[in-house]
Amino acid sequence: MKWGLLITLVCLSMQAQAALKGVPIQGEWLPEQVADQVYVIHGPLGMPSPENQGFMNNPAFIIGDDGVVVIDPGGSVQVGEMLMRRIASMTDKPVVAVFNSHIHGDHWLGNQAVRAQYPDVPIYGHARVGPRVLGGEGAHWVRLMLDLTRKATMGTQVVAPDHVVSHGDVIQAAGLTFEIITNEKAHTDTDIMVLEKRSGVIFLGDNAGYGRILRLEGGSHRGNVAALNMAIDSGATVFVPGHGQTAGAEVAVAYRDFLDTVYTVTQQGYEDGKADFEIRPELMPELTQWRDWEGFENLLGQHISAAFLEAEAADFE
Ligand SMILES: [Zn+2]
Repeated sequence: MKWGLLITLVCLSMQAQAALKGVPIQGEWLPEQVADQVYVIHGPLGMPSPENQGFMNNPAFIIGDDGVVVIDPGGSVQVGEMLMRRIASMTDKPVVAVFNSHIHGDHWLGNQAVRAQYPDVPIYGHARVGPRVLGGEGAHWVRLMLDLTRKATMGTQVVAPDHVVSHGDVIQAAGLTFEIITNEKAHTDTDIMVLEKRSGVIFLGDNAGYGRILRLEGGSHRGNVAALNMAIDSGATVFVPGHGQTAGAEVAVAYRDFLDTVYTVTQQGYEDGKADFEIRPELMPELTQWRDWEGFENLLGQHISAAFLEAEAADFE
């Protein structure tokens, strides 16, 4: 009787434990080779949802001489664990470095899964990311992902980047050389782009989406355009966007041209004394190339408002 009770209690407690963590990522998301020893798991487009379980970024890894380097391990512990399983299926080399492209949690909440296996692995990010994540932004992202996925990301905890990098820094890891390219403001004010020199692959973070428009938040249209021009001029040959498919320089060019068109037309409208709602109809014929992109309908208004404020601020510079 006593044993029966104990077993019942243990079972109940195991069920409670299981309920505290969302199930693994469903679906066969496989790493795609984008260059020699460089792999990207291209996530689905769209916002975090119960269906995608918060997986909608492009976790990536590079297999070096004696280790693996990870870029943006995803939007939950579950995404990070999926990435770790995929890496383990291809190599038994340890993960020796992680880069986080910016502050948005859909890119870095997977840090937890890497640290669980490699407690000492350095996680690199922009100087503003770590303090803000630990100052409340991290907890905000954990809650946001839980809400948007109806708790599919349950079990995810904040693990912030703890190594600061800035423009021009060169990081050596696993026999590979990584160059950090940043602009003061771009998609946000926390972005880094990472160029892996051997392969010529550049990880753009959310400075570019490909087939997807991204929210510009605390960033700058002109700064984002400048950042993408830096990427185009970096010598990179393979361009990995924060969301959408990897390709050549056209990834950076297409997104740069979208941002540039929005800003240029909006600024002209501002100078002509127009309100932002009057600018949209003038802009639409210029944006046919991007009209079918995910997020275009929802985010164009936000982009025009941001460009309008930026044009207004530039007027007073
Ligand atoms: Zn972002």
